[in-house]
Amino acid sequence: MTLQRQVLIVEDEPDIAQFISAALENNGYVSRIVGTGVDCLRICSGKLPDIVILDLGLPDMDGQEIIRAIRAWSKVPIIVLSARDQEEQKVLALERGADDYLTKPFGMKEFLARVRVVLRHVNRRETLQEAAYCSRDLIVDLARRKVSVGGNETRLTPTEYNLLAVLVAKAGQIVTHAELLREVWGRGSEEHSHYLRIYIQRLRQKLGDDPLYPRHIFTEPGIGYRISAEDET
Ligand code: CA
Repeated sequence: MTLQRQVLIVEDEPDIAQFISAALENNGYVSRIVGTGVDCLRICSGKLPDIVILDLGLPDMDGQEIIRAIRAWSKVPIIVLSARDQEEQKVLALERGADDYLTKPFGMKEFLARVRVVLRHVNRRETLQEAAYCSRDLIVDLARRKVSVGGNETRLTPTEYNLLAVLVAKAGQIVTHAELLREVWGRGSEEHSHYLRIYIQRLRQKLGDDPLYPRHIFTEPGIGYRISAEDET
């Protein structure tokens, strides 16, 4: 038996939401519709769906902010729905970590094809990373936003946690100074590299990491930082 994929549809236009939902249900997916960003984040902070279909124009929140919020702690695939004249919005959504976009109006076949492709791309990486990051004695529980070192919980401030979460989301890869500043402090913060130095130092202290002999957070001089890749299981 194959597990049915859970799809969260975030769309305030009932006709489009119903159209997508029907297409998905007819093809073996389980879908759930919400009409606001607040409901989307509430659901995603509990049990994550397998994929999020996100309309950028919601009544209560900017879709771009929703992508940013989700990407601070999850790699759940996101397909963005946008209007035809929103080229800049599409680019921004992809920069923020959306996996793909569809321009309204779109056909059912095209929609299902995009969903399949995105799910196939993430198949490999979805094994452990949704729930927790584990490397040596460091465990980051992404669902509960809890961090432990050697079995002892480490209390982080929200900013320290967000910084760690951005590094963990790209474990094993370099994350640039600009990207870290942008993800944690918001757009326009790219010049404030002193924030980053201070917070990386604090994070290292709390994780018991020695910058001269790092085990967790590695400095890539002039480029950024990298957190060690996850343990192979
Ligand atoms: Ca809308």
